[in-house]
Amino acid sequence: MTETLEPVAAADGSPLARLFAIVGEIDTADEAEQRDAAELAAGHHLYTQYADTLDRALDQDDWTGHPAVKNLRLGSSAVAWLHGGLWLHHTHGRETDEDRDVLTLIVPCSCGRGYVPYELENEDDLLKILTGLRPTGGHVTHEPGSGECDSVIDLLAQTHK
Ligand SMILES: [Zn+2]
Repeated sequence: MTETLEPVAAADGSPLARLFAIVGEIDTADEAEQRDAAELAAGHHLYTQYADTLDRALDQDDWTGHPAVKNLRLGSSAVAWLHGGLWLHHTHGRETDEDRDVLTLIVPCSCGRGYVPYELENEDDLLKILTGLRPTGGHVTHEPGSGECDSVIDLLAQTHK
């Protein structure tokens, strides 16, 4: 008899091996479904709410969906790389506490160490933000002591694992 139980691969064709395979397939299918749904929800949100701006600038293929991270209580989401360190992040209400779309523009800070998230309210709000960013080519100017540019580093690290 061994002192400790080492993980053992279930014998091929055994009921246990089949059960493990089934569980693996369910997880994989569920994650793929969540990814696709997150990408579709993001594209649909741009199409309906940002028809004159984001929907013209981005293709559906620009979105990358991520499944929910249950132990971190993060709902499924989709991100789109815009260029130059700017990202769009979209999450849909069904997985968050509030039943609504949340679209966030994530902008790098001029200090190079952080990002500033702008939760977008509508197309006018986006236009104002973009007008402000245009002279810098897409950075926020770092404000010492504000702490605002550190606020999404952890979130991004989790989203892009
Ligand atoms: Zn900064």
